[in-house]
Amino acid sequence: MIDFVYQAQAARVIFGAGSLQHLEREVQLLGAERALVLCTPEQQAIAEQVAQLLGVRSAGIYPKAVMHVPAETAAAAVKEAHRLGADCAIAIGGGSTTGLGKAIALESGMPILAIPTTYAGSEMTPIYGITENGLKKTGRDPRVLPRTVIYDPNLSLSLPVGLSVTSAMNAIAHAAEGLYAKDGNPVMDLMAEEGIRALASAIPLIKTNPADVDARSDALYGAWLCGTVLGNVGMALHHKLCHTLGGTFNLPHAEVHTVILPHAIAFNAAAAPNAMKKISRALGGKPAAQGLYELAKTHGAPISLKELGMTLDDVDKAAQIAVQNPYWNPRPIGVDSASTLKNLLQRAWEGGSPIAS
Ligand code: NAD
Repeated sequence: MIDFVYQAQAARVIFGAGSLQHLEREVQLLGAERALVLCTPEQQAIAEQVAQLLGVRSAGIYPKAVMHVPAETAAAAVKEAHRLGADCAIAIGGGSTTGLGKAIALESGMPILAIPTTYAGSEMTPIYGITENGLKKTGRDPRVLPRTVIYDPNLSLSLPVGLSVTSAMNAIAHAAEGLYAKDGNPVMDLMAEEGIRALASAIPLIKTNPADVDARSDALYGAWLCGTVLGNVGMALHHKLCHTLGGTFNLPHAEVHTVILPHAIAFNAAAAPNAMKKISRALGGKPAAQGLYELAKTHGAPISLKELGMTLDDVDKAAQIAVQNPYWNPRPIGVDSASTLKNLLQRAWEGGSPIAS
């Protein structure tokens, strides 16, 4: 047994198909009177249902959440919350909407209730990101951790199959890196392995029948576990590469995670054998990196950076950026690692199966 520190993070979780019906009770338990409902423009219809459920406790809807939380959107949302006399915000949607809720909480101290409809996991973390002048600033603050999370698998039935698979791979990435985190602990290991297992077994079922509530339920359960891991332990090379590719080259979040994960895991395999054993067990015995690659490929997810629109010329640039301020990694990364990372990224660009370079 390793020595460890485990810090539980307070959040109330209501899980189950139909659990949205408990919304009013949960808002009351937060001691709130008027909630502002946040969503993307695409999810306004579901936000309207939420506002209806809230009745007099609804302060209104702010349907302007977009990817990467632009500072102007966050400032406008805080202003609107104050104008409407809101004392709580409800974020219904994926990581982009939860991110807007977190920006409001950071500025105003208002409690956030999150209702996730993807598997990104932001609702379980105290990590926020705000983009100003094209630069995404991230940080940790306990005030941004949603106080209550309602996981209702019925709300994820409408998530398109393609995004369901990549979002599930995004969640798996949190758990996979959590298994070799330098500040990991046995509780997070249990959650990470179970989270990968639940998501990996749900993906084929969702692909066959996106309306399978049991499979959606398993995937959301996995997303909760993997999000908890992300919120509790440090991430490594995989997340650094994805932040570089998403931030500098504006590549789509869940898809980038899907493409990079097998290659980052192959890169770290020899340095983290225990983590590989657990990932492999969660994938039903397949070798970790190859198993993740096949999970994505078999279910129609993108497997190359090329198909996400990245140019080959940018691979070198990305490798140079990724070695600056590197995250801790089980296989050490330094400024002299650019050419090794370039090999990794080139393979990911081509979409070849992962090898330990
Ligand atoms: P997203 O929130 O941007 O959603 C993608 C699209 O899917 C949006 O148009 C959204 O409206 C739509 N959508 C979401 N759920 C749907 C559903 N059930 N049915 C139909 N459409 C639906 O995507 P995401 O991958 O969930 O989140 C990505 C963002 O979250 C990134 O900016 C990322 O940096 C951030 N994130 C942050 C953390 C954190 O801890 N801070 C963790 C994970 C992700």
